[in-house]
Amino acid sequence: MSVSHFSPDERDPLALAPADCGRGHSCQFCPHESTCSLDKPAHEKHLIESRLGQIGQILLVMANKGGVGKSTVSANVAAGLAARGYRVGVADADIHGPNQSRFFGFAGQRIRLSQEGLSTQAFHAEGIEHPVKVGSLAFMMETDDTPIVWRDAYKHDFMHHLVGSFDWGPLDYLVVDMPPGTGNELITLADMLEGQDVAALLATTPQEVALMDSLKAVRFCQERSLPLLGAVENMSGVVCPHCSGEFHLFPRAHLAEALAEHDIESLAQIPLSPALASGSDSGRPVVIDAPESPEAKAFAPVIDACVEHARAMFAEAAVASLDTLEQGAGSDFDAAIADLPRDQQDELRGQLADLLRQ
Ligand code: ADP
Repeated sequence: MSVSHFSPDERDPLALAPADCGRGHSCQFCPHESTCSLDKPAHEKHLIESRLGQIGQILLVMANKGGVGKSTVSANVAAGLAARGYRVGVADADIHGPNQSRFFGFAGQRIRLSQEGLSTQAFHAEGIEHPVKVGSLAFMMETDDTPIVWRDAYKHDFMHHLVGSFDWGPLDYLVVDMPPGTGNELITLADMLEGQDVAALLATTPQEVALMDSLKAVRFCQERSLPLLGAVENMSGVVCPHCSGEFHLFPRAHLAEALAEHDIESLAQIPLSPALASGSDSGRPVVIDAPESPEAKAFAPVIDACVEHARAMFAEAAVASLDTLEQGAGSDFDAAIADLPRDQQDELRGQLADLLRQ
């Protein structure tokens, strides 16, 4: 066959980078992986790009220290955003302690692999228009108590699968429950999400030892120019069930001082409460199960901050697109009206600007 036999629409059988296979999951999950001759790195890249192209705001919930309530904050922020009508996903990036499966009532569930990708679990609740989609390594393990003993290369790959291989569909928010620490998973994600709308929330307890670790996460955000929306002070105060008096397990003075020093807004103080603990165990985030409770109300300013930030980002992007449109349209327009008298040109330019702004 000569070169002239190839029409532009037909695929060149000798091409080194043929078209994508169209599967929504990584080659590692593919039954044809060993025999496939397509361009695998290009497929992986395409997967991540197409998933990210359908996701609006990404929120990384960071703590650096384990056990301070990062997963609790992630689940309630995600559920709170869903309760306001947004399409939300929760990506559980905590490889060694993937708890989101339990926090949304999916413990024991396993994954399905389809042409579209790895299935997420959909959390439905009354009053939520779009179910919260949960993607977690927990759904891929043999049993819920299988420990993860992985070297960094596997963790790196999993971060790519978490974003690229799960079938997230279009989302307004993807909440990422980050693992503790500022290691491999965080760096991998931060690199992968470069250029996306990403912001961070810091979960911490007022205890000094938690604060010390949290500040490392703050430094990471500063160094990577990642907008930090603020801190969620978890386990901040306890209400006695007998006398209703409030007391503090951890003194707050140091935290308040450190947040002020680093110019970090304290978004909310979430009490240490049995309702939050049992909500996690029963797989019903408290913001959904008891929206009028003090615990649910305590999360409201965090959800407000996420929405405000996403709106501001959207407005900024819209203005930038408008400017580009105006410049592009302006140069074509200038050429078209070049022969008209000066005053008519000015009048038409004004009309075009009004039209574009509308
Ligand atoms: P992390 O993700 O930082 O490891 P988790 O969100 O998993 O922390 O919380 C650790 C444990 O503490 C969980 O069992 C959770 O249910 C519980 N917990 C977290 N925050 C609270 C709270 N404010 N009140 C009661 N229990 C909480």
